[in-house]
Order: sequence, then structure tokens, then C-alpha cells
Amino acid sequence: MHLSGTTVMLGLMGTPVEHSKSPAMYNHCFAKYGLDWAYLAFNVTPEQTGAAVQAIRTLHMRGANVTMPCKSAVIPYLDKLSPEAQAIGAVNVIVNDGGVLTGYNTDGMGYTQNLRRNGVEVKGKKIVLLGGGGAASAIAGQAALEGAAEITVFNRKDEFWPRVEQTLQSIAKAAPECSLSLHDLDDGRDLYKTIRRCDILSNATRVGMAPDVERSVITDRSCFRPELVVTDVVYAPPETRLLRDARAAGCKTCDGLGMLLCQGAEAFRLYSGLEMPIEEIRALLYA
Ligand code: NAD
Repeated sequence: MHLSGTTVMLGLMGTPVEHSKSPAMYNHCFAKYGLDWAYLAFNVTPEQTGAAVQAIRTLHMRGANVTMPCKSAVIPYLDKLSPEAQAIGAVNVIVNDGGVLTGYNTDGMGYTQNLRRNGVEVKGKKIVLLGGGGAASAIAGQAALEGAAEITVFNRKDEFWPRVEQTLQSIAKAAPECSLSLHDLDDGRDLYKTIRRCDILSNATRVGMAPDVERSVITDRSCFRPELVVTDVVYAPPETRLLRDARAAGCKTCDGLGMLLCQGAEAFRLYSGLEMPIEEIRALLYA
């Protein structure tokens, strides 16, 4: 990499960040396009968020990705929010345009873009969304803003329940045409009845993540049918038990790694206006 007196910095903020592939991903793209930019990962706690956002201004950084646990904590320090970041109260990308800092959330954009790359639009669709955490909120917000007809969220009655209730109310204000509701994941009758009449089934819980790779939220596989599109946010392993079962039943499936790469590509587009070479990055970092 060529570093000079004019090199502009970007970075990742959050903690822990040591495992992140973002520096390798973005620096590869900067080199590919000959951008005089460099990307580093910074350990930032929620208490340090204000100072870290101030550093973007002071050091004239082009922007930053934001990860857990700082996605909500950065909001008070920004100048503007995009509609999806506003609706879900979480930011994962900050862009600095001449001193004006705008917060975006590309997780949901990555989800819908990954579907689009697989020939599926969310507009007009009925979605069953499993989970109510960070990934689920981002998906619900973006899908509602892109015109999904109905999003039925199923979550356990755990600590996420009151938060997702609030998030859905906020999304409903931003996208009043979309029908949004929250149901109990432990009510199997309701769950399978709703899946049988939906177009897209989306897992946004942690179930299926390594090392517990044989687990799936969907235990009654008779709900899978070839017209159903099944997606997962979990990307380790790349093909979860849920996706394997759905594929075996003839469903179209979209994996979490595709979503992860697409959210990175959306962030790169916001920083640079350029297209990330998604398949090149997949082969470089995730082969
Ligand atoms: P989170 O902690 O914010 O939310 C976790 C969700 O999982 C909650 O809804 C919780 O109720 C549910 N859950 C946990 N254990 C469960 C169980 N045993 N049964 C049913 N539900 C359960 O987490 P998050 O940040 O939303 O991440 C969720 C998953 O999505 C993780 O695997 C993460 O790596 C992945 N993720 C992927 C992307 C991507 O781009 N592909 C982006 C963000 C997160």
C-alpha cells in the first residue's frame, strides 16, 4: 500500500475489532481503484464514542464503520441520519462530507441487495422475520422502507422483546404502508401458519451459528415449499442447517455471507461512489 502525506484515513470503531476483516476488505478496494485512502480498526467503547466521532472531524477522515457496542451511542454526535438509521436507531456507517457527518445503516441494505442479486425484490412481499436484535431491526427497517407489504417478527419473550416492540413502532412511522407485528416465537402454531402464507422466511437470530451448527429455529420442515425464499443472517457456517433444509426442499436460499459482503459494498459505495468487487472479496477473504 502507498501511504503519503495526502493519504486520507477511514476506520472501524467498536469493540472488540481485532477479528475484523474490514481493514483487509476496504484496503484491497482502495488499492484496486488507486484511492489514496487507508483503513484501520480502532477499539472504541461506548463511553469513548463522542471523542471518536470528534476525531473523524478533527482528522478529516472520510468516514468510519461502526460496530457493536457503539451503533446507537454514535447517534447524538452526528449531524444527519439517513431514513433507515433514523427508523431503527442504529448506525453502522458514518460518511464525512466536508465536515458534515451523516449516519447510515447498510446492514438492511446488504440484506435486500443480496436478495436482489438473487433475483428477489422485497417490494410487495410478505416476510416472516425470526429475531428482534440488531440484524433483525436493520432488515425490518430497510425492507419496510423498500415497500415490503407485511413483516411479521417472531421473537422469544426475552430481553429483546420490549426493544423490538419500540423499534417496530418507529419503523411503522417511517413506512406506514407496511403492516408490522410482533409475535411469540414459542407459539409454533402461529409461526408455521404465518410461514405457510409468506413469501420470504428470514432467520435473524443467532441460532445455527458455529459451534451449534446443527440447530435451526425451523423444526417442522413441512413448511418449506419451492415458492418460499429462505434467508439467513448467520455467515459462519456459510450454509446453515436452516438453509440446507430449505434448499433440500427446493426453496431458493440466500446466505449471510452474501448479506455481509453486500453491506460492505453499500458502505464502500457511500464512501467512494464506486462498486466493490464482491466476488473478488469473497474469494480473497472467505474462500
Ligand atoms: P443480537 O444479539 O442483537 O440479537 C440476537 C437475536 O437472536 C435476538 O432476537 C434473540 O432473541 C435471538 N436468539 C438468541 N438465541 C436464541 C435462541 N436460542 N432461540 C431463538 N432466538 C434466539 O444479535 P445480532 O447482532 O442481531 O446478530 C444475530 C446474528 O446475525 C449473528 O449470528 C451475527 O453474526 C449475524 N449478523 C450477520 C450480519 C450479516 O451481514 N450477515 C450482520 C449482522 C449480524
